[in-house]
Amino acid sequence: MPSDESTEKQKGLHADGNADRGPIIAVLVAIAIPVYNDRLHKARVAADWANVRAYYAEIQLDYMTSGEHNNNVPDINSTQAIPGIPGAASHPFDIVTIPFLSGAEVKLQAGTYCVVWVTDGSYSISYSCKDNHTDHNLVLQ
Ligand SMILES: [Zn+2]
Repeated sequence: MPSDESTEKQKGLHADGNADRGPIIAVLVAIAIPVYNDRLHKARVAADWANVRAYYAEIQLDYMTSGEHNNNVPDINSTQAIPGIPGAASHPFDIVTIPFLSGAEVKLQAGTYCVVWVTDGSYSISYSCKDNHTDHNLVLQ
């Protein structure tokens, strides 16, 4: 019986060449998925950076033309709720959605951002990816 089984297996391998490829394909898939996820993450970070830069340009231009802080910019100062005063925060604390002054809202895909109004009169934006890669941090000021 054992000799018959081994003979069957040998026959199966030689009769059908695809039988040998199964494990190799599985290994390729196992390697390819992390590479794909890494590239997808980098692409999403790049898209986020583009949106954060566009927003920074928009609010800086708004400041340069108006000369004052825009209440529609959800900077950290205006998003902090004042304890005991309902509705004191003029903006919900949303670190994923960028509310462009033009009206468009963009959700970041791979990270979060934060706007700070600097008292000398300008905005600063920082971005970091959700995986905390230091090379994916972006600070505009
Ligand atoms: Zn990252």
